[in-house]
Amino acid sequence: MDFADSPEEAAFREEVRKFLRDELPEGLARKGGGGAMFGGGGRSRGGGGDYFQKLGPWLNKLNERGWIAPAWPQEHGGAGLSVIEQFILSQEMATTGAPKSPNVIGLGWVGPTLILYGTEEQKEKHLRPILDSKAWWCQGFSEPEAGSDLASIQTRAVRDGDDYIINGQKIWTSGAQIAQWMILLTRTDPDAPKHKGISYFLLDMKTPGIEVRPLINMAGSPDFNEVFFDNVRIPKENLVGEENRGWYIGTATLDFERSGIATGVSHSLTVQELVKFQKEHGNGDAMMRYELADRAIESEVELMLNHQVIGVQARGMVPSNEATVAKLYSSELDQRIAGTGMTLMGLFSQLGSDSKYAETAMGGRFASTYMYATTSTIGGGTSEVQRNIIAQRGLGLPRN
Ligand SMILES: Cc1cc2nc3c(=O)[nH]c(=O)nc-3n(C[C@H](O)[C@H](O)[C@H](O)COP(=O)(O)OP(=O)(O)OC[C@H]3O[C@@H](n4cnc5c(N)ncnc54)[C@H](O)[C@@H]3O)c2cc1C
Repeated sequence: MDFADSPEEAAFREEVRKFLRDELPEGLARKGGGGAMFGGGGRSRGGGGDYFQKLGPWLNKLNERGWIAPAWPQEHGGAGLSVIEQFILSQEMATTGAPKSPNVIGLGWVGPTLILYGTEEQKEKHLRPILDSKAWWCQGFSEPEAGSDLASIQTRAVRDGDDYIINGQKIWTSGAQIAQWMILLTRTDPDAPKHKGISYFLLDMKTPGIEVRPLINMAGSPDFNEVFFDNVRIPKENLVGEENRGWYIGTATLDFERSGIATGVSHSLTVQELVKFQKEHGNGDAMMRYELADRAIESEVELMLNHQVIGVQARGMVPSNEATVAKLYSSELDQRIAGTGMTLMGLFSQLGSDSKYAETAMGGRFASTYMYATTSTIGGGTSEVQRNIIAQRGLGLPRN
């Protein structure tokens, strides 16, 4: 693979760099990249209220160029960038620490799903508020007895006139406490084979009968929730696609969830920061030098895996096995980097970003990075499930 930019790509990279130089507000850039790909990465690591005040105008600037949704077609308000251009934009933003929108579910998963499967009315109603950061979405898929085996969901939707009535429970619903809308998978035909009795809905979180109960994670943050439905009415216009065909739309949403690119860039930056810390504060311990060398090499390997996914996409194909390998490698590396950071900084690693000594320990962000990293290998599909996919789709091994 030729890693050099073509003249057009180099020009686009320069355009992005100039935009970041001119427009990124002072103090908004995050130091270093590395972070868990899932869970509270966006919300919990950003900083305090001042940060969010600056974030709004910055997101508006990205939106004006379509760069808040670089992959969406221009006719729907995105930038319609090629896969390589998306990678360049992501790479440059990660390198400067420019934040992306925390509305990951709306922009990354809901929008692309609606563009493919939504009615004209659904697109008209929902896409613009997502781009304008006015509608926040959550994903009501997992249930207490249905995570890896998602097709086992039991939350029921029963047709009643022009509505469906929903009863049941979701769990691990990230951001439900702030979301205005939810994408919801329900069972509409309990007698059909389990993949064929599921429907996909858009649910207004203000509808009577919804109860959101926060779950506090070990980083002390209420990032996800239990959500209970007691005779919640959804108008039939909010069904996406056909009744009982929701599984196939849900898997498209999950494909969007797992196809994140450019995670290797932020990991590389974090490792570079750790190396700098070791040079300035370390005691020359050989084992730590070897460990950092391992992390640096692994971040490069991850970048190559990112390039492999992009290469497949750039040839107009859908990365399947390649995206799974990249997700598995990246999520496990997330944990190894977090562990190396904790070891390197010793007792200082436990300082929070609000400590007056935080600057002595890379901004005091490693304690939460370490705790969030544990979720990387669960959210978006566990490592065991990814290995099963690689075994079956990649290596052609039998199911049992
Ligand atoms: C931070 C975070 C945010 C999340 N946000 C959301 C959200 O917004 N919306 C949402 O719907 N869900 C969300 N989830 C839920 C997530 O999708 C599930 O946790 C995940 O799919 C695993 O399901 P489970 O927790 O039920 O574990 P289980 O499926 O019960 O798995 C338990 C263990 O068994 C293993 N296992 C299961 N099946 C197999 C198999 N066939 N072969 C080998 N091993 C297996 C798993 O790997 C795991 O180790 C979130 C999870 C996390 C951690």
